[in-house]
Amino acid sequence: MGESAPQKLNWNRLLLIGVVLSAIIVAAMLCYAARSVRRTYQANTCRRHNLALIAQAAEAYASLYSAWPESVEQLVHVQAVSPSASEHVICPSAQSKGLPEPHYAIAPGLKNDMPDSYILVYELHHVHGGKRHVCFVGGKVKLWGHDRDAELEGRLESQRQAAKPGLER
Ligand SMILES: [Zn+2]
Repeated sequence: MGESAPQKLNWNRLLLIGVVLSAIIVAAMLCYAARSVRRTYQANTCRRHNLALIAQAAEAYASLYSAWPESVEQLVHVQAVSPSASEHVICPSAQSKGLPEPHYAIAPGLKNDMPDSYILVYELHHVHGGKRHVCFVGGKVKLWGHDRDAELEGRLESQRQAAKPGLER
């Protein structure tokens, strides 16, 4: 009888430790899940709302002014984006990381007869899992990491060169 009381106490303690550990694991999992849901939401907002809207606005601007915009600020300035323009030119991921605006840039050398492979808008910061969104003229949006920085620069430069008067045939 004298041994059963401490043994029971040990079992209770073990059970308690088990419950506490499970609670910690569940809390950590929930925290991780919430964070990944938030990241996905931010990336979707960036891609579906912001980039799509900026691309549409750039096209609207081009047909209205017979010239492509040079920056996202230009779009906001003429209110081509929407009445609540400012919120669509802010990437929620970049904002939560406290990164400076602008968060997006309009690619150079845009013209009316450009191919779908041309880049229209891209993000300036790698804020989505170390990658950034690149939106093409055809509407495709891709996530590019630092490994494609050189390729992006190269493409932007060739778009810039192709648009230079005198070099065109
Ligand atoms: Zn973004």
